[in-house]
Amino acid sequence: MKVENQKVVGIEYTLKNHAGEVIDSNEGEDILHFIQGIGNIVPGLEKAMHGKAAGDRFEVLVKAAEGYGVYDEKLVRRVPREKLKGLANVKKGMMVRSESPDGEQVFTVTHVTDTEIKLDGNHPLAGQDLFFAIRVAEVRDATKEELAHGHVHGPGGHHHH
Ligand code: ZN
Repeated sequence: MKVENQKVVGIEYTLKNHAGEVIDSNEGEDILHFIQGIGNIVPGLEKAMHGKAAGDRFEVLVKAAEGYGVYDEKLVRRVPREKLKGLANVKKGMMVRSESPDGEQVFTVTHVTDTEIKLDGNHPLAGQDLFFAIRVAEVRDATKEELAHGHVHGPGGHHHH
């Protein structure tokens, strides 16, 4: 069975950045399962998965625009420290959630001074080219329920409680 839209795919992956550093990997851990064609994974990797079969190994370079997006300066905000009094122990690298009428947004604290905090709303991997090494572990049909929910059930997938 080959990977096509609406198949459930299980993969082992290693993600490296431009410098060759491993950013993320599930090697030796649980297989990552996703439904092909509905945006469960970044667009560039989804494209590269098409037509692959269980047992295939491949490497693919996913450009930032087809990964976590290009870096957007407009998503960087400087906030006066006194406006974030609730964040007593704010530190560089912390993730902060903010609720707005547009929904929830996650910011990374990138700079802290006595008077100002710099928040970055870009995905931590925005602007980075992504180097994936993939082993396809499994390809199967998705159940109707999985397609309706938009995620995989069972081992390695989503569990309802
Ligand atoms: Zn579900």
